[in-house]
Amino acid sequence: MRPDILNPLFAEVRAMKGVGPGLAKPLEKLGLVRIKDVLYHFPASWTYRKAVQRLDIADVGCNIILAVTVMDHRSSGSARAPLRIYGSDAEGNYITLTFFGRNGGWARKQLPIGEARIVSGKLDRYGDELQMVHPDHIVAVGEAGAPGLAEPVYPLSEGLTNKRMGQLATAALESVPELPEWIEPSLLAARNWAGWHAALNQVHHRDDMANRDRLAYDELFSNQLAMRLVRAAMDQRKAVPISGTGALVDRLQLPFALTGAQQRVIAEIDGDIAQSRPMLRLLQGDVGAGKTMVALRALLRAVEAGMQGAMLAPTEILARQHFEGLQKLLAGLPVNIAILTGREKGKLREATLMGLADGSIHILVGTHAIFQEAVTYKALALAVIDEQHRFGVSQRLMLSRKGRGVPHLLVMTATPIPRSLALAAYGEMDSSQIDELPPGRTPVETRVISQERLPEIVDGVARHLASGKQAFWVCPLVEESENSDLAAAEQRAEMLRLRFGDQVAVVHGRMKGPEKDAVMERFILGETRLLVATTVIEVGVDVPNASLMIVEAADRFGLAQLHQLRGRVGRGAEKSVCLLIRSAQIGETARARLALMRETNDGFRIAEEDLKLRGAGELLGTRQSGDSPFRVATPEQVRELIGVAADDARLLLDRDGGLAGPRGEAARLCLYLFERDAGIATLRGG
Ligand code: ADP
Ligand code: MG
Repeated sequence: MRPDILNPLFAEVRAMKGVGPGLAKPLEKLGLVRIKDVLYHFPASWTYRKAVQRLDIADVGCNIILAVTVMDHRSSGSARAPLRIYGSDAEGNYITLTFFGRNGGWARKQLPIGEARIVSGKLDRYGDELQMVHPDHIVAVGEAGAPGLAEPVYPLSEGLTNKRMGQLATAALESVPELPEWIEPSLLAARNWAGWHAALNQVHHRDDMANRDRLAYDELFSNQLAMRLVRAAMDQRKAVPISGTGALVDRLQLPFALTGAQQRVIAEIDGDIAQSRPMLRLLQGDVGAGKTMVALRALLRAVEAGMQGAMLAPTEILARQHFEGLQKLLAGLPVNIAILTGREKGKLREATLMGLADGSIHILVGTHAIFQEAVTYKALALAVIDEQHRFGVSQRLMLSRKGRGVPHLLVMTATPIPRSLALAAYGEMDSSQIDELPPGRTPVETRVISQERLPEIVDGVARHLASGKQAFWVCPLVEESENSDLAAAEQRAEMLRLRFGDQVAVVHGRMKGPEKDAVMERFILGETRLLVATTVIEVGVDVPNASLMIVEAADRFGLAQLHQLRGRVGRGAEKSVCLLIRSAQIGETARARLALMRETNDGFRIAEEDLKLRGAGELLGTRQSGDSPFRVATPEQVRELIGVAADDARLLLDRDGGLAGPRGEAARLCLYLFERDAGIATLRGG
């Protein structure tokens, strides 16, 4: 049970004062559901302003704060022309406040003629005039909420303003208590770190990186602690050693020879599962490296030994693809394979549950449903978790309650974890790499092309579709701001429909699971031919006929993400192309990043570079949205912090053998805070 002191952190944002349904949605889009999500939604940057008395000596191009007296409202009468509001400073210098679009009515009310207002925004020159387009703050003199000299800039979504986001963060901070300190006092002192509450307060209210380290450390510490707890708990309990007879594996008819890398990894796994020490192994291999085959071999070993295996996929569609693929490969073998997802209901579900309980089903493929309470296995000996590079501690623990002993565990991921981080971050796991693609693959050709050439790109798509093939078109989510110029999937789909009609399908993150699955299935079946998507297609779908991947505003994606997207094509015999559309104007770094994508297909190299460019937060899989506390940290700094966290976690557990004592109690809070609490249950033998 979560300690009561944390309850305010887990309260829903919706329950906050002043958060109506109108705000809940944009917040949810950013993944901000609970108070703690808001607290950990950090500013991405800061705006600095200069207080200006006299416009005639103010710097054009700067953000300023200014008191103006409103002189006049003028609009040309045309709906398209902006509203211009004229004002002057105390010395009589003029400025035009310009409002485009439908903001006119609102602006007139905010800026009544003859009255004084404090406004802030960027000072521009427009012809001979000084102007400010859409001031970011307008307040009456002496009123609360006046713009500050420095203001955090938050990642936003449509319907959520920066000002509102700042208010929410402040309110969230006020609603949560200080927590007992879990960091070793000497470490806290040596690093000059503030307490948890003060550190969060600083992140939101001061442009000061000092305490981001501390917050990053908290998360790393909780990870290390949870991993240690899990490893310790697994080591205490025995797994059933699996010694296969070869009866099934040797009869498996494969249309190809296994690569050297696959053989090596299979041998590593066979060695592990033959032990009574539970396997805890991370298998990394680029998209298309053939991880499924490795998993199948291991699952068959379990079946040969008279036990069961399960494979968890992250989505319904992937589960189905795995199920169908494995079923084909297993044809003719005396192996009974079944699928279980949220969709299997009624009699079918009952039958599967019975088969698992009596052992007549040997291999189960599915989504999270496969580890739910109601699912009982006769003898689960091996679990494979696909496309998962988060720690997955909770799945691991759900599993540990499923078998006679603890099942052996194989976690597979196509998101390469940079070698430089893997050891530190996953020290408690053994790791295997498939660093070789099956022969005969034509590497995906990557091209970078400017957004300005969109018409040509669309022509290219037309030729591609006309030849009977399919394509993906990925648009980034509109997240940055209301005025964002990023192409939303819906809008893009609309444009493409004008040309390609109902060959176009669209899938995005706001769709509900079944709705999304239905769209994906039609595309997999070839009923639709151009799939316009936000990054929801990122993970694992296999559509061999899709040999063109277009990524719009590619410069806004992380490299690892682009690599994943690119991996969606190049799955058939066909030569595949990945078109990275870049914004018309991009900087040097962005250019270099895209060039790297063109240059290499090596996921590990890309991951290393990505790490250098972005910091490690996302790679560690701990951030859903917002800014990573690692933003400014170098990989070396992150590695060092992980090392400290690992040592600290070890010391704490070794000394107390658990989470006893005041610091142990505090560390428990840290685990709960980052939802690694499943580790505690294991410790109790749960
Ligand atoms: P991933 O590692 O991305 O999960 P998959 O296991 O889905 O990759 O394999 C991708 C494709 O490569 C599948 O169609 C699979 O049948 C094929 N494949 C796997 N191993 C080999 C091999 N050794 N030689 C040729 N093709 C292979
Ligand atoms: Mg796969």
